[in-house]
Amino acid sequence: MTETPSKAKEILLKYRLCDRCLERLLTAGNHRGRGAQIKARLLEEARATLQASRDEALVLVKALAESGYVPAQAEALELGLQVEATFCPICLGRLTDEVIKTLVAESAKMVNGYEFEDFLVGALIPKHLASIEERIFSEFGLAESETLRKEVTREVGSRLEVVLNRPVNFTSPEMLILVDIFTGTVEARPAPLYVFGHYFKRQPNIPQTPWYCSSCWGAGCEKCGGLGRMYPDSVAEYIGEPSMRLAKAIGYKFHAAGREDVDVTVEEGGRPFIIELVMPRLRRISFDELKEAVRRSSDGRVEVDSLRLAARSDLDLLKESMESAVKRYRAVVRFERPIEGEALKKLEATLRGAVIEQHTPRRVIKRRGDRLRRKRVALITSRLLDDFTVELNIEAEGGLYVKELIHGDEGRTEPNVAEILNNSPLSINLKFLGVSKTIQHVK
Ligand SMILES: [Zn+2]
Ligand SMILES: [Zn+2]
Repeated sequence: MTETPSKAKEILLKYRLCDRCLERLLTAGNHRGRGAQIKARLLEEARATLQASRDEALVLVKALAESGYVPAQAEALELGLQVEATFCPICLGRLTDEVIKTLVAESAKMVNGYEFEDFLVGALIPKHLASIEERIFSEFGLAESETLRKEVTREVGSRLEVVLNRPVNFTSPEMLILVDIFTGTVEARPAPLYVFGHYFKRQPNIPQTPWYCSSCWGAGCEKCGGLGRMYPDSVAEYIGEPSMRLAKAIGYKFHAAGREDVDVTVEEGGRPFIIELVMPRLRRISFDELKEAVRRSSDGRVEVDSLRLAARSDLDLLKESMESAVKRYRAVVRFERPIEGEALKKLEATLRGAVIEQHTPRRVIKRRGDRLRRKRVALITSRLLDDFTVELNIEAEGGLYVKELIHGDEGRTEPNVAEILNNSPLSINLKFLGVSKTIQHVK
């Protein structure tokens, strides 16, 4: 305690800190009023030494006056001292009860209309001010001190807990409130809402995400008939738009566990996805309503199921799990020449458990670049539908190009079905039937 005033004197002679910044630096906690008390003791000290060491005492009175301590300003006036108007170098005089109260009231207004159960306050502090504070910390060995940012967030946060009747959540708040004591402004940032589910594509020729025209990139040209895109709709839009409406969000991002070609349908288990809703006003949306809305807007061509709330961390799981997950497909393949039952046995025996060496397919090589990948076929069964037509059920490692496994892509995929059967496929009708392993739900 006796040491504090001398440390405070040292600091004030160089930096004219306001009462609150001084007490925060010296007491590292909640000691409201300590800053003014310390200044009062320093003023007493100055008065007591006015006779013995006048110059030193005057310098101290001046520093105290310039730090905004009112009794010292009166004293300085009496002593005829020239006092310069200054601002606290850390908070510029903005760390006051009045400013905090205004920010609390403004915050309550800004979050009005948003559904959230907990929140966190963040403070915007200009970099140069934060670095001045840091410099003072290190210059005077104040390693334990609380920062301005921490004091502002604590002050606003604890008052808002009462006003909003909701707790602060430091790890995964549903609402982030950004306050700025310098401009007096507040920003409400609701956390994104993540909804996990499986989607089904009942009919082909719907791309997973909007497919823009490669000539005009959306502007509209002759090639795309002025539409700006190659297909009028997408799975992402059929799911994203109604989700956005239900959550009253301002936007969405669609994340899926892999993607199928535009002509491939998705059935049985479906494909896992997460829809990320940006700035949602509502967080307790009805999944039944969402299911119905997706079905209605797509005329039943796209459906969703197994809906539940997810967390941000599920996005990584969605991607990781797809790398290792086994995917299931059903292909109906029509061949050029009749097929014999014996040939199918040979096909199953050759491909079951086989590692397929696959150069990037010719149809995507422009976009992806050529590389060799090795993917395992876990299981393959076949069934003759008529003399020319075979149904293949395939379970394979994620990332295997299944159409190329069937037609061989001019030898770029080895081994392949066409080569083993010594027959050329005329048409391939492919369905994606889901993954054998889905992600673990977190939240
Ligand atoms: Zn200050
Ligand atoms: Zn175009």
